[in-house]
Parts: sequence; C-alpha cells; structure tokens
Amino acid sequence: MLPDAFDLPPYTITRTRRRSLELRVFPDARVEVRAPLHASPADISAFLAGRRDWLRRTLVRMAERPGPLRLQLAEGAQHPFLGRPLTLRLASGARKAVRREDELYLSAPSAEQLPAVLLSWYRAQAYQYFEAEIDRHFPFFAARGHGRPTLRVKQMKSRWGSLSSRGFINLNLALIRLPPACLEYVVVHELCHLEEMNHGPRFKALMDQRLPDWRARRLLVNRLPRIELVSAESGAAIG
Ligand SMILES: [Zn+2]
Repeated sequence: MLPDAFDLPPYTITRTRRRSLELRVFPDARVEVRAPLHASPADISAFLAGRRDWLRRTLVRMAERPGPLRLQLAEGAQHPFLGRPLTLRLASGARKAVRREDELYLSAPSAEQLPAVLLSWYRAQAYQYFEAEIDRHFPFFAARGHGRPTLRVKQMKSRWGSLSSRGFINLNLALIRLPPACLEYVVVHELCHLEEMNHGPRFKALMDQRLPDWRARRLLVNRLPRIELVSAESGAAIG
C-alpha cells in the first residue's frame, strides 16, 4: 500500500496538438501527462493536484493486479475469447482463421505470420461483439438526443476505452478476451460519457441507473491479468 501522505510519483509530460490535459498510467506504473502545446507548468500542476486521489487509487489497484498471463501461440494452447477458452489448432496454408465451437483453426504460410492471423480474427470478432453491445445500450442515449458514436477498436496499453468529442467510441481490443460482463461495463461507462464528461456524482448516478452492479464489474475488469502473446520457440512477446 502507498502511504496516506501520497506524493506524486515521477511523471513525463508529452505535448501534442490537443485541447485538454490527460493523465495516463501504463501497466508498468509509468505516469504520463499529455498536454496541449501551450499548457503552462502551473496548468499542469493544478491538473495533477486535482487528480491526486485518482492517481493514488489507480496505482494501488495496479499493485494489487496479478502479473501478465503469458500465452504461447502453439498447437493445443488455450486462448480466451469472451472469457472462455478456445483451443488453438495450427496449420500451414493460406492466411485463415475459423472457429468451430471451442476450437480455433489458424493457418498461415509461415509460423511467424500466425500472430497477425490470430489478432485480425480477434479484431473482426471485436467489431462484431462491440457493435452489438453498443446497439443494445444505445437506445436510452438516442432518446436523449445523442448521436451514435462510431466504434474504433484499438490496442491500448493504459485504458479500456474512451469517448472522443469527435464522435468516436474507442474500445480496447483486449476486451474481446474478457467475460462479456466486462465488455458491457466498459461500453456503458463510455456511453454514459455522452451525458456526463467527467466521473462526478451525476456520472455515477447514471451508471447506477444503467448498470446497477457496475462497481463489481469494474473490480473484475481491473483484477484480471493482462495477456501477453509469446512465441512458442523463443518465449518472446509477439503481440
Ligand atoms: Zn470514463
């Protein structure tokens, strides 16, 4: 646990063409402030002071999180899909991925190309399941006059999702491996940002209304280990 008198940890500042400040905490506990080009040191200090409690909670949570689960891309290995294991069946041939019940048949001309085939299969599934989840929850927000955000699936290291003011809902590809309850929590969270941009009491009240058990789901999504894909031969990370 971190001490009560929590001093801000070291952080880096990255300046980009953006309009607002953002705080990111990476899986290795690295902290980064993303700032507009013109933000002053005083702006950044004030921003960090306002997020001290959140940062402390986030770092505690990360310290409690188990280390990454290293999965080999190998014949017979089990890889999660929507929280359930799929057994990989590998072959050489044209690039293809076909699921039959709880088995996933992957083929590629060479073993080095298999990770890309697996990731593009996950990505295609993600678009299908994530869109369906957005559709299921969107009518409430449509009735309140919001436009449906456009889905983008991304590999993100520091967050599960985000909602941009330009009308995109960005969801982490890694959600396709987690139980559907986690996906639903993140989708509802991001959609609630259509109504409330911050995480204040009104945001929480809306979450309570849309997904009463969201706190338990948040615990689950943040306690599950990250997954690293490693090559069967070298044990090196490949995706
Ligand atoms: Zn949020």
